[in-house]
Amino acid sequence: EKKVVLITGCSSGIGLSLAVRLASDPTKTFKVYATMRNLGKKERLLECVKGLHRDTLEILQMDVTDQQSILDAKERVVEKRVDILVCNAGLGLMGPLEVQSLNSMRHILEVNLLGTIQTIQAFLAGMKAQEQGHILVTGSTGGLHGLPFNELYCASKFAIEGACESLAILLQHFNINMSLIECGPVNTDFLVNLQKAELEDMSVEQVDGKTLSLYEKYLHHCNSVFQNAAQDTEDIVKVFLTAIQSPSPAFRYFTNSVVEPPLTKLKAAQPDGVQYIKAMSEIVFSGEEQ
Ligand code: NAD
Repeated sequence: EKKVVLITGCSSGIGLSLAVRLASDPTKTFKVYATMRNLGKKERLLECVKGLHRDTLEILQMDVTDQQSILDAKERVVEKRVDILVCNAGLGLMGPLEVQSLNSMRHILEVNLLGTIQTIQAFLAGMKAQEQGHILVTGSTGGLHGLPFNELYCASKFAIEGACESLAILLQHFNINMSLIECGPVNTDFLVNLQKAELEDMSVEQVDGKTLSLYEKYLHHCNSVFQNAAQDTEDIVKVFLTAIQSPSPAFRYFTNSVVEPPLTKLKAAQPDGVQYIKAMSEIVFSGEEQ
């Protein structure tokens, strides 16, 4: 019997790569429901699987901010169960806090946080009844330590950590595993899709000059990190596979052992936070290329 996998946010990036990998698995172990908000974007996924996987891949519409669309997608799962749920849909929001509108702040929390939670909610009762399942969430190092000019993004990703860690404690009593796949920078459409405050659009009436010059430095840092240290989606997919195939999956997996864990360790080793804040400021604003 195939393992039924449902993945959110499959029109691009990590979700797309994971859907393709699992649907193309030579053992045909997985039946993949690749969901996306806008079915108009399904061509890219279809091109990647080259139409070969009719029996292992199904594409469904699902907007994680729309409860009815989640329930409609659930209804269309012919097996009437999901063994592996991957909450991956998400987006970024970047810029000085002063320029963020309430609507854009609401939107990122709605997609990244409530979208993830209401997707889990929809499949929770089914998994509990089966007494088996694995919920995987695409996490971010931005959920483990703060990043300047990413307050709302980090708030959404930190919040997911709290929600998932809390749920994991209960779910082990139902033989349901929960895993966060913590990613650093990954080469995807993330930077294109994120809502970013552009320097040229901001006036000094909105934001002071010092913040703007620090933001400029941050943007340089961010670009160089993405150019020099970003992982490919295939690397992330390998970590997902490790988690999925493990008989006793861990709660957290780190995709990038080179860059990020020292910062996470520094933060854990010094709970008062002073050193982490200093270290991050130096990394981001020193102007030295990474
Ligand atoms: P991406 O932009 O290519 O993919 C995100 C997907 O989520 C897109 O296909 C988008 O259409 C979808 N999405 C957005 N809003 C949605 C909604 N309301 N309903 C359903 N789908 C929606 O970028 P990605 O890097 O593949 O992002 C996947 C996940 O990885 C996100 O949760 C992101 O926060 C996380 N992540 C990415 C990076 C990175 O550097 N790329 C780093 C850490 C974590």
